[in-house]
Amino acid sequence: MKILVINGGSSSLKYQLYDMTGGDVLCKGVCERIGIADGILTHRIGDAKYPYKQDMKDHTEAIALVFKALTAPADNGGVLKSLDEIDAIGHRVLHGGDKFTQSIIVTPEVEKVIEDCFPLGPLHNPANLAGIRACKKLMPNVPQIAVFDTAFHQTMPEVAYTYAIPREYYDKYGVKIRRYGFHGSSHRYVSAKAAEFLGREGDPNFRVVVAHLGNGSSFSACKGGECQDTSMGLTPLEGIPMGTRSGSIDPAILQFIINRENMDVGTMVDKVLNKQSGVLGISGVSSDFRDLESAAADGNKDAQLALDIFCYAGKKLIAGYVAALGGADAIVFTAGVGENGPDTRAAMCEGLEFMGVKLDPDENAKRGGERVISAPDSKIKVLVIPTDEELVIATDTMKLAKK
Ligand code: AMP
Repeated sequence: MKILVINGGSSSLKYQLYDMTGGDVLCKGVCERIGIADGILTHRIGDAKYPYKQDMKDHTEAIALVFKALTAPADNGGVLKSLDEIDAIGHRVLHGGDKFTQSIIVTPEVEKVIEDCFPLGPLHNPANLAGIRACKKLMPNVPQIAVFDTAFHQTMPEVAYTYAIPREYYDKYGVKIRRYGFHGSSHRYVSAKAAEFLGREGDPNFRVVVAHLGNGSSFSACKGGECQDTSMGLTPLEGIPMGTRSGSIDPAILQFIINRENMDVGTMVDKVLNKQSGVLGISGVSSDFRDLESAAADGNKDAQLALDIFCYAGKKLIAGYVAALGGADAIVFTAGVGENGPDTRAAMCEGLEFMGVKLDPDENAKRGGERVISAPDSKIKVLVIPTDEELVIATDTMKLAKK
């Protein structure tokens, strides 16, 4: 069974084609500068790259170009003789509000909910829906499946998802003003893998804290495979400082800066807090953790401060979530920084010895796949588990398409 996974952004669109028989990735690629001049699609098979320099007016044109790359002659990167070989298409969708607790076959009703959630994901949801509609138009007989970033977190109890604002606003606008959480496919995959890795699959008492640390970062607390709390909120802006997002700040800061800079709220939230803040804002160097680590090693104090703030915020979230779960069996690090940044992992665990976290520095320094990095006598096991959001999307898509 061949499954195409689509992850659409506002001006970009990533894709991966899976042969689910062996779970192999046949090819992957990204369309960049959709709706802007100098569009480019970079198609890849393993390390081989096949660039297509072509403007894409919208997501329909981008998807059409992806289909062209997939069905090109084999010596030009093509992997399909015909599009009929694609059995189903899975779409990553940012926001499903509180309507979806799992992945679902796209129907007009599902499209309507994705549209209703535009205000909660103004950059992503319109792009995700555009991708779905483009695929429907070009391949009307192939099932389309929506996999929501918010779905896994829908098991959170009211006490974790309710904001302390007047209740009248909660349910006034069609979409509820509450915590939803994001990176759901990653938290679901990694927490399940941790249970499997430790021989606790299906154990209703297995408690795990997941630290997804990438360009965007979020934490989750799960018990028995169900999310109990997560750090991102109504939108992905809440939580710890990220590459360019501020994370949680005192909302009065908005009022203070807006008044003095004569700025509108949209600019403050979309531009300043989403794109110019986080470790980029603190350091003035970069949003990329490798750049920050090398600048800090060269003596840049602001880069070091950005890294310290990131790790301090992460440590507080880990400890808070262990408390929320009444103890934990495992803490798992994942995503770009979580999988590849031993210094960040060490700094986030430092000082947590009081609650039974003890890293093994040698194991932490090693590279590799799924692994334990805590000392044998650590009460809470600390693991690194590489995430695979695309595989989650492909697997859900296959299951629903088979039905
Ligand atoms: P992601 O969003 O999961 O793709 O993660 C991207 C982030 O991971 C970027 O900030 C990268 O700098 C960071 N990253 C990747 N490799 C390393 C590494 N070896 N050490 C530290 N950070 C890394």
